[in-house]
Amino acid sequence: MSVRENLENVRERIEQACLRAKRSPDEITLVAVTKTVGPDRIQEAVDAGIEVLGENRVQEAEAKMSAVRGGVAWHMIGHLQRNKARKAVEMFDVIQSVDSLRLAREVGKRGGEVGHTVDIMVEVNTSGEETKYGGPPEGAVDLVGKISEIPNVSIKGLMTIGAFTDEESVIRKCFRTLRGLAEDVRRAGIPNVEMRYLSMGMTSDFEPAIEEGSNMVRIGTAIFGPR
Ligand SMILES: *Cc1c(COP(=O)(O)O)cnc(C)c1O
Repeated sequence: MSVRENLENVRERIEQACLRAKRSPDEITLVAVTKTVGPDRIQEAVDAGIEVLGENRVQEAEAKMSAVRGGVAWHMIGHLQRNKARKAVEMFDVIQSVDSLRLAREVGKRGGEVGHTVDIMVEVNTSGEETKYGGPPEGAVDLVGKISEIPNVSIKGLMTIGAFTDEESVIRKCFRTLRGLAEDVRRAGIPNVEMRYLSMGMTSDFEPAIEEGSNMVRIGTAIFGPR
């Protein structure tokens, strides 16, 4: 299957999930995740209408960014080390994977140096799995509050990775947790914070994610094939 055909299939599945959830597909931003994928195939996705690309590593993204044509936004979705923050801030339109106050401070500092406010999302570890990054749900509202006070950082939403399991109820619980946290943040009325994006759902779980309120799905395998 070509990238274009895969994309059509993914879009169809997004539409069906939206139908079930009585939502409009227009609400959903599809992020094509390009880790390990070369520029030619990324270009196919962009030519087929993809507007947002997600990369996990600063270095890997660098070569691709200069090779891919078209007006696309690049989102950093992988764990970001503080010593790469400067580069990430220069390269990416959004850093979805801000998972600590320390990292957020570094991102803000680097944003100040390069003279722009950095759009970020706060990553929450909703599954509690030790292998995953992100702060615990219990501290998330507090973390958002603290990050909101950092100059040159603008919070646009929350991001999570669902539990690695076949049990859909467990995965859904992660998504519900993130959605609830976004509501808690809204209710707290923290200045300088927008809960515009709820970034959750990957190849294996984007349909339940949409049913649970996701408006940003990050999909690699279903678009580009197995890695
Ligand atoms: C790799 C990755 C994805 C996409 O995963 P697929 O299962 O290939 O769709 C989404 N989000 C993050 C953070 C990732 O690292």
